[in-house]
Amino acid sequence: MKTLRTFLTLGLILCTLACPPSRAAEKLKALIVDGQNNHSWETTTPVLKWILEESGRFTVDVSTTPPGPPKGRLSAEQKAEHEKANAPRWAKWRPKFGDYDVVVTNYTGDRWPDEVRAAFELYVRNGGGLVIFHAANNAFPDWPEFNEMIGVGGWGGRNEKSGPMIRWRDGKVVRDESPGPGGTHGPQHEFVVEIRDTEHPITKGLPTRWLHAIDELYSKLRGPAKNLTVLATAYADPSRRAGTGEHEPMLMTIAYGKGRVFHDALGHAPASMVDIGFQATLARGTEWAATGKVTLPAPKPEEMPADKVVKREMPAKP
Ligand code: ZN
Repeated sequence: MKTLRTFLTLGLILCTLACPPSRAAEKLKALIVDGQNNHSWETTTPVLKWILEESGRFTVDVSTTPPGPPKGRLSAEQKAEHEKANAPRWAKWRPKFGDYDVVVTNYTGDRWPDEVRAAFELYVRNGGGLVIFHAANNAFPDWPEFNEMIGVGGWGGRNEKSGPMIRWRDGKVVRDESPGPGGTHGPQHEFVVEIRDTEHPITKGLPTRWLHAIDELYSKLRGPAKNLTVLATAYADPSRRAGTGEHEPMLMTIAYGKGRVFHDALGHAPASMVDIGFQATLARGTEWAATGKVTLPAPKPEEMPADKVVKREMPAKP
């Protein structure tokens, strides 16, 4: 008995010294925040979760806020009713941002409680990772710190007072201060995403142009755009409705305090999330936001070609 115990203890010590850490211990912790959106967060969150988990680099939790108001134009009474019903739910919603390496937001909707806003600001400022996914950049037009984190955003009354539009012209970033509303897009279509910064850890080693699946081409995003780096753009062809004739920023990074933000303007719906280029840049951007480095391998050139959409779809639930 004693021998067995000694043997087990010895084994434990040896293993502590020499055994490789378990795969789970190596993984980064990601938190997806959803619950309200002018998009179908119910169908996009599972795809985000799958992409991150399938990369082998993350464990993923989801924190869902109280529900948004009922659809349609609401009377003052209906609005008050919604707020009253939600108040105790908001009082309970306290995501522990600090427990995670990276927070991925798939949220746009009601104002977060002040306590949550303060915790979120502190988390990012102190070095937390943040990923802004598509319509999450529509959120909180009146929250200055959030707008600094996202760099640029759309809709919600954004205009020239929100900050410039960011354009890629003649090989460099131009801040376009001309007046007008922030945020537009035409009908969804497949479009080529062009990498503009080939040295950044997120984009290094990737094919420089790939055909992205059917999506909205977000245009005229506006914001403070401080400490913003454009990684990739897409051309908003003026022959299409709402086409600006500009190379619009699609993938960006923003430095906010010690925090790293990866802003991905792509991903309107699950059908927009099927191409390997989207999935690879999302996973790599999330890893970079979490750690400042990227270890995930780049797809092969034939997996991200510029002339056809190469898909990898989330398996249907059995
Ligand atoms: Zn959309």
